[in-house]
Amino acid sequence: MKLFLVVLSLLLLNVVPTQTRIQPADIVFKNGTVYTANDRAPKAQAIAVKADRIIFVGTNAAAQKYVGPQTRVIDLHGNTVLPGFTDAHQHLSGVGFREMTLNLEGTTSLDDLLAKVKARVDQAKPGEWVTGRGWIETHWQPPLFPTRWDLDKVSPNNPVILGRADGHGAVANSAAFKLAGIDKNTPNPFGGEISKDKQSGEPNGMLLDAAQGLVRRRVPPTSRADEERAVVLGSKRNIELGWTQVQDAGGDFDDVEIFKKLYTSGEIKLRIYKAIHGPGANANRLIKEGPIIGQFQNRLTLRTIKVVSDGALGSRGAALLGPYSDAHDTSGFLTVKTEQLRPMLIDALRQGIQVETHAIGDKANRYILDEYATALRAVPRNIRKVADPRWRVEHAQIVNPVDIPRFAKLGIIPSMQPSHAIGDLFFAPSRLGIERLQGAYAWESFIKSGVVVPGGSDAPVERGEPMIEFYAAVARKDPKGFSGPGWHLEEAVTRAQALKMFTIWPAYAAFEEKLRGTIELGKLADLTILSADIMTIPEAEILNTQCVMTVINGEVVFERS
Ligand SMILES: [Zn+2]
Repeated sequence: MKLFLVVLSLLLLNVVPTQTRIQPADIVFKNGTVYTANDRAPKAQAIAVKADRIIFVGTNAAAQKYVGPQTRVIDLHGNTVLPGFTDAHQHLSGVGFREMTLNLEGTTSLDDLLAKVKARVDQAKPGEWVTGRGWIETHWQPPLFPTRWDLDKVSPNNPVILGRADGHGAVANSAAFKLAGIDKNTPNPFGGEISKDKQSGEPNGMLLDAAQGLVRRRVPPTSRADEERAVVLGSKRNIELGWTQVQDAGGDFDDVEIFKKLYTSGEIKLRIYKAIHGPGANANRLIKEGPIIGQFQNRLTLRTIKVVSDGALGSRGAALLGPYSDAHDTSGFLTVKTEQLRPMLIDALRQGIQVETHAIGDKANRYILDEYATALRAVPRNIRKVADPRWRVEHAQIVNPVDIPRFAKLGIIPSMQPSHAIGDLFFAPSRLGIERLQGAYAWESFIKSGVVVPGGSDAPVERGEPMIEFYAAVARKDPKGFSGPGWHLEEAVTRAQALKMFTIWPAYAAFEEKLRGTIELGKLADLTILSADIMTIPEAEILNTQCVMTVINGEVVFERS
C-alpha cells in the first residue's frame, strides 16, 4: 500500500506538475535523438539531470519546466544520446601502458615491426629492456610469428620482449632468453609453452601464455608512479571514446588501492567494475573480506574473481576438444588446476562473490560450464549469499553448439567481444576448420537461447573503441565490409541488441541494472553522446562516428571542442 501511494504520488508529480513541485535541473539536454534502451519508452528528445541522477526523460517542451536560473541547457542539435556505454571486458592499465611503452598496434609486416623496435633500441641505454605490445601477424605476408633471431638483427644486446596483441603470446630476443636462462632443455611451465624450432629444437623466441613469465620476471618491475599514470591515461582515453564504465578483467588488490587514490584525488572519473585474479591469494582475500560495492559515488565496485582457463586462438593456446586444423599435433591447453579452482568456486558462491572465467576454446568452455555446474549444485541457493550469482564466461568464443543452451540453463552470462570475430575470422577457418565455426562468436544464437550478452572490447587486445565494437556486432564484417566463408553473418545482432550489449546488459552482468544502463527516471546520469545516429545510418558510417560528449554521474567529463 505504501509503495502504491509512492508510485501514485510520483505519477501525479509527472502528470500535473506545478512550478513549486519541480526542482530545477543542473543540466537539461534538449534537441537530442535519444535512444533510452528502455523498451517501455525507447525514444526521447530531452533529458534533465539533477546531481548524479536522471530526473526527466521526454519531449523538449516538457523539459522546459526543469530549466531554472542556474540550469545549464545543452542544445544537442540532433546529436544522438545513448545510455553511457560500458566496456564489459577491458584491461584498463594495459590500455594506459600501451600508450606508454612501444605501441605495436597496426604493425603491417615483420619489417615494420623490426623498424619500430630498432628505433626504440637506438634510444635505449646499454642493457636497458625494450618492451612493447600490440603486434598481430595474421595480416603479414607470410603470416608467421616473429622469432628471436629476427629480433637479434635489430637488438643484439638489449633484451626485448614484445607481447602479441592478445596478450597470450610474446616474442623475446636471445639477450632476453639468456637473462632468463632459457635453453632447449628448459621444460614448459604449467599452462604455457616455450615454442621450439622444428628442426633444431632450439627455442625460437615465442613464449605462449604462462611461459611468458619466464622472461617477464626479469624485466624490472614498473614503478607505482608508472602504474598510476597508466590508469590515468587509460581512463582519459576511455572517456574520450565514450565509455562511462569499464569492467576491468583481472589484476590484484594493488590496482584497487591505485583506483582509490586516483578517485580521491579526482584524477579519474571513469566507473570501474573491477575483477581480480584467482585462484590464489587475491581471490582468497576477496572471499574473506567480502565485496566493495559502489564506492566513490557508485564508481568503484570489486566483487568478482577472474579465472583464466585457457589461452587464445591466435597463439593456438585455446583449449579445443579436437586438434587444431592447421597444427594437428596440438589442441591447446587448460591453464587452471581443477584442484585449486573447485574449492574457490564453492567459497565464492557461499560468500556472494561473482566469478568470471576466460574461456576461448570449446574444451575450455565445456570445462568451465561443468565446473560451474558442479559448484552450483554443491551450494544450493538457500546457502548462497547471493542467490543468483550471475557468474560469467569471458569470451565464450568457440562453443560446441550443444553447450550453448547450457548457459541459459545454468544462469551463466557469456561476455563477448565483437571485434574479436572480425579480426579472428580471417584465420579462424584455417585454425578450426569450417565445421567448428558453427558455435564460434555465436552472439545471436546466445541471445536467442535466452541469455544477455554483455559486449566488450578486450582492449588492449583490441583497439578498445566503442564504434568498432558496435560496428562489428551489427555488421560482422571487417572495417572494409569484407566477410569470408564461414563468417556466419546470421550471428550478427540487430542494432537494438547491440545497444543493449554495451548498456543495459553489462549493467545486468554487474548487478547494476537498477542503477544504470538505460536512460530512465531515477537512474544514474551516464550518457554517451555521438555525432551520428548509429541506430539508423549505413553500417560503414558507424566507424566514422565520433563521441562528442561523455557524461558520468551527471557531470560532463568530456566534451569535444
Ligand atoms: Zn581480456
